[in-house]
Amino acid sequence: MRKRLAVLAAACWLAVSPAHAQGKLNVITTTSDLASIAQEVGGDRITVESLARGYQDPHFVDAKPSFILKLQKADLLVVVGRDLEIGWLPPLIQQSRNAKIQVGADGYIDASAGARILEIPQGQVTRAMGDVHPQGNPHYWLDPENGKTIAHQLAQAFSRLRPADRAGFEQRLAAFENKVTEAEKRWMAGMAPFKGAKVVTYHRSFPNFADRFGLDIVGYVEPRPGIPPTPQHTLDLITEMKRQNVKVVMVEPYFDLKTPNSVGQATGAAVLVMPPSVGGVKEITDYISLFDYDIKLLTDALRKAGAK
Ligand SMILES: [Zn+2]
Repeated sequence: MRKRLAVLAAACWLAVSPAHAQGKLNVITTTSDLASIAQEVGGDRITVESLARGYQDPHFVDAKPSFILKLQKADLLVVVGRDLEIGWLPPLIQQSRNAKIQVGADGYIDASAGARILEIPQGQVTRAMGDVHPQGNPHYWLDPENGKTIAHQLAQAFSRLRPADRAGFEQRLAAFENKVTEAEKRWMAGMAPFKGAKVVTYHRSFPNFADRFGLDIVGYVEPRPGIPPTPQHTLDLITEMKRQNVKVVMVEPYFDLKTPNSVGQATGAAVLVMPPSVGGVKEITDYISLFDYDIKLLTDALRKAGAK
């Protein structure tokens, strides 16, 4: 009897190859950009799904009951962090009652660790400053160098939870890094003629993007982060844009175009609906095509405006 069991155990061991003994990692991300990078690194060894859609404002996501079900089954939760999801995610994590993904657990990954974070406020942050992020600007994924950092961190997390798949994760990480590095050459070349071009954005979504690609952001349609436009601020913005000859206003797809359009009419600036995330429009299917799309949109407008 004992011998038969041993034979049976050996047969089972052979039937399941060690690398696949544990099955796919079930990864949930808060945003589509993190899901895209996770897919690149995880390949067919993970399943991944984003809670927010790329055309939604990631600060304000409608928490659906289905999110709790997804979180209950997750092995890993990847968040943007820096308080981006503070308005909607914490109760969902709690209600999932999934010990693996609670803050501080092995399956809770803050993708901002190690990324280059801008706009970390100096001194005390007060409510009067609006929705200022005390931990710095959370829109850091819009620098492709930060995309590589995120990928690195995910490869480490995946390998920790699935050590048998480590080699595969590392191989796909290297392939992704190479792909981004190659793409960066064409993005930098495309943007080079417009170095220092002055733009206005609706929300503070693009400081990392501007920093990487050489744009000068001279103002915002929002008077303060998270605060809707006011008539006085809009008038001041128009005056400033005329003074500095700003020819482009970049608007995230989830904001009302009424104020940006009137600013555009008053100043002659082009109003661009510029998605900050994968899935913001249907052409943007992954992290690389996000930059391809945005940079084409921007360079076409800057060329037309004769900026620089
Ligand atoms: Zn923000």
